[in-house]
Amino acid sequence: MKITRDESVATYTITPVDGKEEEKITAAVGFLKPGDRFIHRGRRYDEESHRTTTLILQAGGESKWESRKESEWVTITEMVYVGGIEIEFQTAEGGEEMLGQIAMTSYYSGGLVFLGVTEVYGKKSLTVTGTYCKNCGAAIVDSGRCEWGICEACVQKCEHDYKVGAIHGARVDIGVGEFCGKCGRGKPRPEGEREKNLIEHHLAAQRELGVYVFYPNKSPCTPEGQVKAARLFRRWVRSKERINRVN
Ligand SMILES: [Zn+2]
Ligand SMILES: [Zn+2]
Repeated sequence: MKITRDESVATYTITPVDGKEEEKITAAVGFLKPGDRFIHRGRRYDEESHRTTTLILQAGGESKWESRKESEWVTITEMVYVGGIEIEFQTAEGGEEMLGQIAMTSYYSGGLVFLGVTEVYGKKSLTVTGTYCKNCGAAIVDSGRCEWGICEACVQKCEHDYKVGAIHGARVDIGVGEFCGKCGRGKPRPEGEREKNLIEHHLAAQRELGVYVFYPNKSPCTPEGQVKAARLFRRWVRSKERINRVN
């Protein structure tokens, strides 16, 4: 699929690139009405590059929580999908960034809203958006704004009410920061104050949120361990400098 995003009208356009993809899209638009939502079923990503490789959506049908008894003591509750058709969105090389963006929009919106069909180079293409602003009803595609369900124009007008809590973003998986509880906008840093690094964010998350962070592929595998290792390394560098000076 080829995906483009038009910020000015808050839409993504998804164009099939081969016959198989075209078939799926044609089947989906056969029974979807504008305003219907594709259900977000998840995404796959590459462990090494952390890039999204596939977005999975469902057209039609429904999702619901279902519990089943595995044994006398174990009951498993999971989301099940009934009916509809499943569509996997993959992208040709070079389109990974856009696929990652649409996957996050879908994740925070609980799926994508089907708006209609347009023809791009003679191919039936899907036009979708993320969600609608809870204040003014404008369509939103930015994933950060979709998470809060509020558009940029309304964020600009918000009388922010900042509080301290868990934050996350493109570079911080979990951390602590100040943000507005009404619109999600982060509090601007005072001039001259540097941004916390990732390890400092992890330490703050442990201290203030009670969330423990581990690095399965690093040694030491905790933020404290990393800080200690860095301190020992700096000490070692300094002692070497002293030795060099003496010599
Ligand atoms: Zn708005
Ligand atoms: Zn605000």
